[in-house]
Amino acid sequence: PVALRFEDLSMTYPDGTEALTGIDLSIAAGEFVSIIGPSGCGKSTLARIASGLLPQTGGLVRIDRDHLAFTFQEATLLPWRRVLGNVELMMELRGVPAAERKRKALEQLDLVGLTGFEDRFPRALSGGMKMRASLARSFALDPTVFLFDEPFGALDEINRERLIEELSALHRAKGFTGFFITHSIPEAVYLSSRVVVMGARPGRIAAEYAIDLPQP
Ligand code: ADP
Ligand code: ADP
Repeated sequence: PVALRFEDLSMTYPDGTEALTGIDLSIAAGEFVSIIGPSGCGKSTLARIASGLLPQTGGLVRIDRDHLAFTFQEATLLPWRRVLGNVELMMELRGVPAAERKRKALEQLDLVGLTGFEDRFPRALSGGMKMRASLARSFALDPTVFLFDEPFGALDEINRERLIEELSALHRAKGFTGFFITHSIPEAVYLSSRVVVMGARPGRIAAEYAIDLPQP
């Protein structure tokens, strides 16, 4: 089954900037696809359209937004809530009962290696730990499609490598559909079964590569 599909998608901003043209892309359930391309080729525009934050000006998007999670570069944790409260936030908004919320939040925190840090405030976490908490918050909703827009851009090399490995393991364990935007070729190759390369002016798909790495 198809989890995410763009059909002849285009986007022209109100000032006349053509950000995307003729985007055709279909992502199967469970697939992990990366989008790479130079600055200005329309990656963020594509992410915002996929997430529903920005209405496209042409073409179609098919995606189940009820089961969509997204993570952007800055791990946007609420500074006045502890880690546990931050991870429970989305569940609270959806009316999940308190006991179940806590159980699920602790389970997700364990998964991202943050057991023992539940009562910290975000300011007392490292950058990598903030990103892990933010991933835990998204995973608590059991997303079937996970959209990442440069999630590791603000991290140092070592934390970035660790998180890439962790995300890869999470994908194998949970089987969600991944749509991963990056300008790092190594990130794209390591994480994905398919890499889509975009070109600019206006943003379009320039090439696609299947990645078939030997199993470790
Ligand atoms: P990327 O994420 O690949 O760097 P963007 O999606 O941010 O690319 O931008 C694609 C193009 O659209 C660029 O030319 C950018 O200047 C333009 N753009 C982005 N946002 C807006 C906006 N709100 N209004 C007008 N042009 C925009
Ligand atoms: P990461 O961001 O991947 O956790 P770090 O090298 O920043 O990696 O941290 C390594 C370990 O040091 C963390 O797992 C945590 O136990 C501890 N640590 C890091 N930063 C802080 C902090 N601000 N407060 C408390 N403990 C921290």
